[in-house]
Amino acid sequence: GQCILVCPVGALAERDDTETVIDYLYDPHIITVFQFAPAVRVALGEAFRMPAGANVEGQIVTALKQLGADVVLDTNFTADLVIMEEGTELLRRIETGGRLPMFTSCCPGWVSFAEKNYPEILPHISTTRSPQQCFGAMAKTYLAEGMGLDCKKMRVVSIMPCTAKKEEARRPEFVRDGIPDVDVVLTTREFARLLEREGIDLAGLAPSAYDNPWMGDYSGAAAIFGTTGGVMEAALRTVCKVLTGRELETVEFQPLRGREEIREAEVDLKNGLPVVKVAVAHSLKAARQMAETARRGESAYQFIEVMACPGGCMGGGGQPRSKKAYQASWRERQNALYAIDRQRPVRQSHNNPLIEKIYDDFLGQPNSHKAHDLLHTTYRERKRTIKHTMKEIWQEIEAR
Ligand code: SF4
Repeated sequence: GQCILVCPVGALAERDDTETVIDYLYDPHIITVFQFAPAVRVALGEAFRMPAGANVEGQIVTALKQLGADVVLDTNFTADLVIMEEGTELLRRIETGGRLPMFTSCCPGWVSFAEKNYPEILPHISTTRSPQQCFGAMAKTYLAEGMGLDCKKMRVVSIMPCTAKKEEARRPEFVRDGIPDVDVVLTTREFARLLEREGIDLAGLAPSAYDNPWMGDYSGAAAIFGTTGGVMEAALRTVCKVLTGRELETVEFQPLRGREEIREAEVDLKNGLPVVKVAVAHSLKAARQMAETARRGESAYQFIEVMACPGGCMGGGGQPRSKKAYQASWRERQNALYAIDRQRPVRQSHNNPLIEKIYDDFLGQPNSHKAHDLLHTTYRERKRTIKHTMKEIWQEIEAR
């Protein structure tokens, strides 16, 4: 049966998809490819009596291998790819007088909120797909080619901090020739339940490394996608390099860190370039405020990061929850993500050698025709209107 849980973010429901994943794992004809989001690794341990913020990335790889996963890779890799595509898109908009401010697009909670409530601002949202969807698209093309796999036999399984990612994966925009880029999404909580059912105690596992040279390495910039402010910080590291030709001396943007629902920063690129004004917003209340000012044409910013969940994905609606330790684990998870960033040998997306490789071998340039085809999308108004007849209701259901 299916278990419906109430999502703390609001209007979204959590479907239990663990049975589907078990079916995939036990089918010898299916090749399973797993990805997990930046925020999952600093929260899953809490479901196995580990301290808040414990980084269990290597244990997740081991656990998935024990479950029988064929390929285990990291959404962090495609977070780096998103920065390349979204950063390039921002620069193009600035240079060509395109729609500004540009909003980030990696949070499907925010995207569907905008589609339902603020259709006027949809042209302001970056067309770059989220890291989850970029991963699916790359797995079934680039990875399939690289490993010599039949994409029809592949099933991409995501482990996400998020209930809205399930709905995102089902969008018709993300199905090509009848094949979805991402086949099924488990929340962090569902993944914890799956491990418990299979008798795997995460806390007792030794860590393993990714075993794949295509999509298994990431920069510190990708790691911080899991916290509010992280996508903006990651983007600025790359945008500044592209605009000035120099790496930033300090890659950490303190004004963008912290807890206020809306935070802002001015980035002085020097070299006679104009100052870039950016903002970070988390929670739907802050999202609404940003959308309202953009709709009125009164936004003071060029680039705005929006995350629907308080705290960003680390506080996502699908993460382990503990009433007693909720606020404390928020801080610990964020510190853990910042620590991963500091420990990475490469801290900028454009310096990830696997990102250079994917453009050299497969995509060409950021925003190339192929990149647009596989890594970008469109949005549509989904404003709810009152229906008066059954015929109108059926017409809407069919149009979905
Ligand atoms: Fe999902 Fe929340 Fe992250 Fe948005 S902020 S992607 S809704 S977990």
